[in-house]
Amino acid sequence: MAVASKTDVESKPQVKEDIWIPTSCGQCYCMCGVKVRRQNGVITELAGNPDAPTGRGHICAKGLASPQLLYDPYRVNYPLKRTNPEKGLHVDPKFVRISWEEVLDTICKKLKECQERDPRGAFFKATTT
Ligand code: SF4
Repeated sequence: MAVASKTDVESKPQVKEDIWIPTSCGQCYCMCGVKVRRQNGVITELAGNPDAPTGRGHICAKGLASPQLLYDPYRVNYPLKRTNPEKGLHVDPKFVRISWEEVLDTICKKLKECQERDPRGAFFKATTT
């Protein structure tokens, strides 16, 4: 029987949490039911959820790549607003960081304007899940 040395024990991270969480993939409009493995607060694995009506236990390559998006160091984690009205190829949009409150206020204002102008201009798309 092999006995772990003190160095082995110290160098291996201790797993305090190892759970599978049923959820849905958000990488496209299909929103397949998936299971996510979380170890010590970090997503380490994804799998299809056979109990889910969407996906039925399957997951595509794009869905499997979700953790790479989640942990991308260049991922934008806050809203940005275009400040340059001029648009086009090679035109700097001059994005500036804004608060979530400003985003919600802006969206609500635009939806209200749309509703007052012609409610048919607002379209909401949801998925089967
Ligand atoms: S697993 Fe693939 S098909 Fe399903 S929601 Fe994710 S990206 Fe879309």
